[in-house]
Amino acid sequence: MSEKARILVVDDDEGLRKSLGLIIKRKSYRVETAATGQEALEKALGKEINLALVDLKLPDMEGVNLIPTLKEMHPELAVIVITGCASIETAIQALNKGASAYITKPLNMDELCAKVEEALERQRLLAENKRLDLELKKELEERKRAEKALVESEEHYSALVENLTDAVFLFKGGVITWCNDRVEKIYGYPKNELLGKQAAFFYPKDVRPYEFTRILSSALKERGLFNGTNKFQRKDGSVVDIEYTLSQIHGKVPIEIMAAARDVTERKRVESERERLLNALDEKTKELEQIVNVTSHDLRSPLVNIQGFTRELDTSFRQVYEIFDSKAVPSAVKKKLAPLLDEDIPHALQYILASSSKMNSLLSGLLRLSRLGRAAPNIKKLDMNKLMAEVVASLEFQIKESDATVEVEELPPCYGDGTQINQVFSNLLDNALKYLDPNRPRIIRISGKAGEGRVTYCVEDNGIGIADKDRERIFEIFCRLDPDVGIGEGLGLTIVRKILDRHGGKVWVESEPGKGSRFFVSLPTKEGINDKK
Ligand code: ADP
Repeated sequence: MSEKARILVVDDDEGLRKSLGLIIKRKSYRVETAATGQEALEKALGKEINLALVDLKLPDMEGVNLIPTLKEMHPELAVIVITGCASIETAIQALNKGASAYITKPLNMDELCAKVEEALERQRLLAENKRLDLELKKELEERKRAEKALVESEEHYSALVENLTDAVFLFKGGVITWCNDRVEKIYGYPKNELLGKQAAFFYPKDVRPYEFTRILSSALKERGLFNGTNKFQRKDGSVVDIEYTLSQIHGKVPIEIMAAARDVTERKRVESERERLLNALDEKTKELEQIVNVTSHDLRSPLVNIQGFTRELDTSFRQVYEIFDSKAVPSAVKKKLAPLLDEDIPHALQYILASSSKMNSLLSGLLRLSRLGRAAPNIKKLDMNKLMAEVVASLEFQIKESDATVEVEELPPCYGDGTQINQVFSNLLDNALKYLDPNRPRIIRISGKAGEGRVTYCVEDNGIGIADKDRERIFEIFCRLDPDVGIGEGLGLTIVRKILDRHGGKVWVESEPGKGSRFFVSLPTKEGINDKK
């Protein structure tokens, strides 16, 4: 027992208590003494006591009865009883109550010291035994828990692996040692035909084996991982597109590689179909743009002829009219020709001139539109306050004419082609001025706010507004909701949308008929806009 063991001496014989105390102290133990059972209990309370030397004859109680109470307070306590009249019965009684030894008076100090040491050693061994027992129990429980967790985790793991939509393989030293059921579905080979096969059996069909091995080993060496999508042949000869990941399991010799593979044949088919359609669409758009470009260009020369010859006809007609108006022409002829020369011919000439000029502006619009499709936008950071001031200045005349107020708020910058974005806002502001309601003060507001990598501008008017059913239609080519309101070809908004498409931007409208419209333009705030052509 440790030198610091605490010993409680309980004896009513003061002389004995003192001498016992001295001897025990000399042996480096700590000593507490008590003359009665009650005192002993008080001293034992709240203190660590390792051994009690208890006289069986105490003034207030039998020493034998003190033992269980002390043991209750200190379950590890060793007890040696001291008795003056040793008899077998008292010794047995004391031992039954928990004493580990007894010693008779008169005391032989050497015997006493030997018994104390023996009792303390026994107590230490018992405590150690108990501790080991507890530790063993704990360890056993821990092991049981770990085993249970292992079984559960294995169950989860195998359920997970078997229910995966991926085929999973394990290659050890280049040989398939394990795979899940999904393998059969994807590759068409039953599991048992695959186990034990060389990895080369699984090499993609669309690569050279040597090249594949080289790329694979360098990827595994560098990153421990290899991703790929290749064509593989199924057992029935059909070919599937497989997307797979090979990962090396760390620290295994021979090398262990885990493979997870999924069938992406359908996805690949859809992707290539999408690509084919996009290419076809691109081709068609180019073709269409070319047709529009060529026809609008080619149609302009005959149109110029029509306009030129009509003007010549007009001049000739005026000369004919002067002659016709002279006195030289007989009044009967005048009467006959009057309806033709006064009305029909000038009307027809006016009509031809107006129509050809309309056709001219339509063709110019078409040409502008087709050119937009060809010129790549020159993207720069745009000072929108400056740009909008230019737009407003260029429409100064129309603003004055329509007696409108144009309010421009502080605008955040954006990224775009200066000329094209100027065109966007010119068209929107021009429309806002054209479609104002003459019956109320005309106010147009231009604002903008930035957020989440985009900036959104708004051109708001309090004009005639647009019905819900027309909100999308107005962006279609040549769409004019009311040909009698404002002058135009129905191309302005088509051009706006096309420019924004090519900037990765958007345009949309919110409107209420009779109240006004708000045209929104959203553009990226950062450089690097995709040319969506
Ligand atoms: P255009 O103005 O030359 O007719 P647009 O393509 O610019 O062609 O506009 C198409 C049609 O959309 C217009 O004819 C008009 O009916 C309607 N529209 C455009 N802007 C407005 C607006 N601010 N308020 C009411 N209607 C509008």
